[in-house]
Amino acid sequence: MSTIATPTAVLESFNPSTGESVGSVPVTPVSQVGTIIARAREASAAWSNLTAQERADILKPAAKVFADRAEELGLLLTREQGKPLAEGIGEVNACGARLESELDEIVRAIQPEILRDEGVQSTIHYDPYGVCASITPWNFPILMPHSTVIPALVAGNTVVLKPSEQTPLIADEYVKVLNQFLPEGVLQIIHGEDDQGKALVAGDVDLIAFTGSKTAGQHIMGSAAKGLKRVILELGSKDPCIVLEGADLEKAAAFAARNSFRNCGQVCVSTERIYVQDSIKDQFLAKLTEEARNYPIGDGQEESTAIGPMVMSEQKAHVLRQVEDAKSKGARVVAGGSEHPGNFVEPTILDGVDHTMDIMTVETFGPIACVQSVKDGNEAVSLANDTEYGLGAVIFGDEETARKLSRKLTAGMIGVNRSIGGASGMPWVGARQSGYSYHSGPHGHRQFCQLRVVSTNEG
Ligand code: NAD
Repeated sequence: MSTIATPTAVLESFNPSTGESVGSVPVTPVSQVGTIIARAREASAAWSNLTAQERADILKPAAKVFADRAEELGLLLTREQGKPLAEGIGEVNACGARLESELDEIVRAIQPEILRDEGVQSTIHYDPYGVCASITPWNFPILMPHSTVIPALVAGNTVVLKPSEQTPLIADEYVKVLNQFLPEGVLQIIHGEDDQGKALVAGDVDLIAFTGSKTAGQHIMGSAAKGLKRVILELGSKDPCIVLEGADLEKAAAFAARNSFRNCGQVCVSTERIYVQDSIKDQFLAKLTEEARNYPIGDGQEESTAIGPMVMSEQKAHVLRQVEDAKSKGARVVAGGSEHPGNFVEPTILDGVDHTMDIMTVETFGPIACVQSVKDGNEAVSLANDTEYGLGAVIFGDEETARKLSRKLTAGMIGVNRSIGGASGMPWVGARQSGYSYHSGPHGHRQFCQLRVVSTNEG
């Protein structure tokens, strides 16, 4: 194996609630990214020779480590990212609790398939690509790496992970847990900002599994085009929630509040736009306002906290700029909206918004519930689809109308009288500019594989 020189600079991680340093990791010099990829390629010869079942069996014991260390790792996650401690622990637990069944699901999904005609048999093999670059954001700093690293590894790829510079410590721990079980070089991590990500994309990798902003996704697609590298892009969105006559308003308001405010609105499938039928808008707004009281802000380590801080001051400034723009164009603050120090933003409800305002067209990624009146379901669908994005969409109404209208929504994942979260095995799929390819579920797992078809003469 090639040797890698000792890096000098460090990447420091700060607690967004307090501004205090949580720790640091060494920055990977851009000049060494090529050597790290070469090491991954060397390791891929032996790793890809194992069966998918053998690879899954190697990873299985990691489930217990995540379960045993959930509180410690959850606390680190909360200190680094800001979300409430129960959610930080929950995120680590999700990696552990689901690992065994995920591994089984991936193994099943990538078994060879046989097709037969008279005198010929074709076998579809799900082979590894080679080296996979996994590049991830900070909003779910352990679950996002997990979502692409695990299927890439089980498919027989080796992986170089580049986590967000905002949350390097928890990602580093994640890799250390898996590396207790993996052979050397199969999973490596590099730290730094965009430049390390760009060097990885431009390097000798075969597949790039990226989760992050649309802008970075566009850049990655451009760079990958030179080598026609495979890309899986999970990007931003501007998810709508439609509430029509016949909806259970308690349920719709509880969903809209939770999905607008949780993780301080920093979720790719956050509700960013709410379209409510005129006739029920006042009732809905009253219930939404009541719900907003259930979301006190504070340091994620305090038990009373439902909403932590924004991950960084730039993100807060972006959110407040959109709120001011909306107010200047006639939006009314119904709840929240007061000033808070540090990175905190109070869950806020705006009424009277429309599509002339940035807050209804540009991803906000903050705890702002924006309500626009519509005369009927058709107008709601037409406004909901008036976006370049298309990750999730949700519709509440009488079951028959809501189901019918759901088929006109252009998002990739749609919830009818519920969230977008559905049955196990569903893919995580964005439409339009929210995604390119997808992951999770049997359909998603196969995206980490090169299909090869071998046809033979039979009988
Ligand atoms: P980001 O795009 O700024 O950064 C994501 C990662 O990409 C980081 O590790 C960053 O260092 C790296 N990066 C940035 N520019 C790059 C480039 N040109 N080449 C290679 N790597 C590069 O995103 P973020 O601020 O960390 O995350 C928030 C965004 O992620 C939001 O838009 C959100 O909607 C999106 N997101 C999408 C999903 C999904 O499943 N669709 C899930 C979570 C987050």
